[in-house]
Amino acid sequence: MGAVQLRAGVHYPRSAGEFQSWFATDADCLDYLDWLRWPEGFICPRCGHAGGWVVADGRYKCSSCGGRTSVTAGTLFDRRRTPLTVWFTACWMFATGKDGMSALSLQRALEIGSYPTAWAMLHRLRSVLVRPGRERLTGMVEVDETFIGGEEAGLRGGRARGKKVLTGIAVEVTQPRGMGRCRMAPLTDASAKSLHAFVTDHVEPGATVITDAWQGYRGLEELGYLHDRRSQRAARACGEDPGELLPAVHRVASLIKRWLLGTHQGSVELAHLPSYMNEFVFRFNRRRSRSRGLVFYRVLELAIAHDPVRYRDLVVDPQPKTTPPTPPGKRGNPPSMDRPRAARPWRTTDLG
Ligand SMILES: [Zn+2]
Repeated sequence: MGAVQLRAGVHYPRSAGEFQSWFATDADCLDYLDWLRWPEGFICPRCGHAGGWVVADGRYKCSSCGGRTSVTAGTLFDRRRTPLTVWFTACWMFATGKDGMSALSLQRALEIGSYPTAWAMLHRLRSVLVRPGRERLTGMVEVDETFIGGEEAGLRGGRARGKKVLTGIAVEVTQPRGMGRCRMAPLTDASAKSLHAFVTDHVEPGATVITDAWQGYRGLEELGYLHDRRSQRAARACGEDPGELLPAVHRVASLIKRWLLGTHQGSVELAHLPSYMNEFVFRFNRRRSRSRGLVFYRVLELAIAHDPVRYRDLVVDPQPKTTPPTPPGKRGNPPSMDRPRAARPWRTTDLG
């Protein structure tokens, strides 16, 4: 059985008007999340048994072990204080806005009382954007490292220049000068150990990796890559612009810098920079998506498959995540992520 073809207006809303009519109440939202989480019917997260019924409090009761589970239990929406309708509106704005939004503009748009609530909602959404086990980049891939973040001198009343984070960037290049997907991650340093780890995490072996002549990139052939090293000196010698050796990564680097200064006014804390990078990469890799409603669907799909994110984890965890990502299967994906989807439009009767 193949994956169902997702259709606008059937599986996800086509427009803001449709969004509003589908998700007028918390019960509507819950119904949709139910379909996203268990497209082929309830599966008990405790014992894995398929089958159960809805009891008086709205939760499912497993017909095998008798355990009770709510649709949102163990997901990003677990124990939320904010109504689901507000959550859905935040997701819609997050997914359909081309450049995303700051916590301040979300707070204003949703008339949420407190800034920390809006801030935490956006951070929770960002934390679901990295899909475990996602495919690595293939084909021709430019790789380089650059510094990102920090305040410009003289901004905001002469505040001291913030620290910048050394960041690895990898971008698929397509002929003649196009770009495919990108990946980005903080690096501890520009040593061969860090750079090799970055490349193996994000680029599929067999790909051609294009870098400058920095010695940290030596040894990529031994890791299973074709290595195209471009020397600035050689470029200068043949009269080419040495700054244009890696045009794709340089364009992506300037796009994320502009995005941090624009949408987020440059006010991104160092500790949270990796999650902003995740958001940027998510948006960049979907920049050609014809339907923003489909992006909304993808965000919710990731959120319902994601473990709860505690507020204190958002606030306390001050270190950029430089450790390798947790292998797939350890981050709370219910098996529904791996199952083919059955054709079960979440609302079969009233699509108006
Ligand atoms: Zn059970």
